[in-house]
Amino acid sequence: MRLQALDLRLLVLLLVLLLQPVYGTPRAQDMSLGVDWLTRYGYLPPADPSQAQLQSLEKLQDAIKVMQRFAGLPETGQMDTETIAAMHKPRCSLPDILGAAELVRRRRRYALSGSVWKKRTLTWSIQSFPQSFQSSQSIVRALMSHALAVWAVESGLTFQEVDSQHQEPDILIHFSRGYHQDSYPFDGPGGTLAHAFFPGEHPISGDTHFDDEETWTYGSQGALPGASEARRE
Ligand code: CA
Ligand code: ZN
Repeated sequence: MRLQALDLRLLVLLLVLLLQPVYGTPRAQDMSLGVDWLTRYGYLPPADPSQAQLQSLEKLQDAIKVMQRFAGLPETGQMDTETIAAMHKPRCSLPDILGAAELVRRRRRYALSGSVWKKRTLTWSIQSFPQSFQSSQSIVRALMSHALAVWAVESGLTFQEVDSQHQEPDILIHFSRGYHQDSYPFDGPGGTLAHAFFPGEHPISGDTHFDDEETWTYGSQGALPGASEARRE
């Protein structure tokens, strides 16, 4: 009997410990996700190593509120379930909010390079294919071609596939993992799916990168030009 009472107390204690994250303070891993996410997408300034201190709780709550406003959620300032779910949604990796320094930098970049193409025909090439599509590269090429055809109708541009061995294309497409030689490392499964660079004269302008730690698939339903079946699982 004593043993059973002890078991029961342990069970209650365990339940309290397990339930606490739901009703009490947010779990450490949620806070860590929150700080990471808010910093990545421009809601929090990058941590300053010279200050040797973490983001203050007040600043963090303010940043969460701005994010919630942006996402159309109740502005609780808390890492609640809805907020965490919104942060887990797949997205592109451009920041939502630009700091003043970043705005000046971008304006300067636009002034130098211009943010429009100075030609109407753009060349493209796929440099590397997704792991999940190694055996069917022609499907990836067909899907890209189809996606660009949609953009061609809207933009009046013409897109032409070229062999990147012989010609530097305007739009170089690759599937990469983690750090891949630009300032926007990928984050593994979920989160960021892809990003692309603005038009311009720089070799990277127009280039389009996809996170290869996502599982890219092309659905079995519908004909190829039917289109929207390529997705992340
Ligand atoms: Ca990702
Ligand atoms: Zn990239």
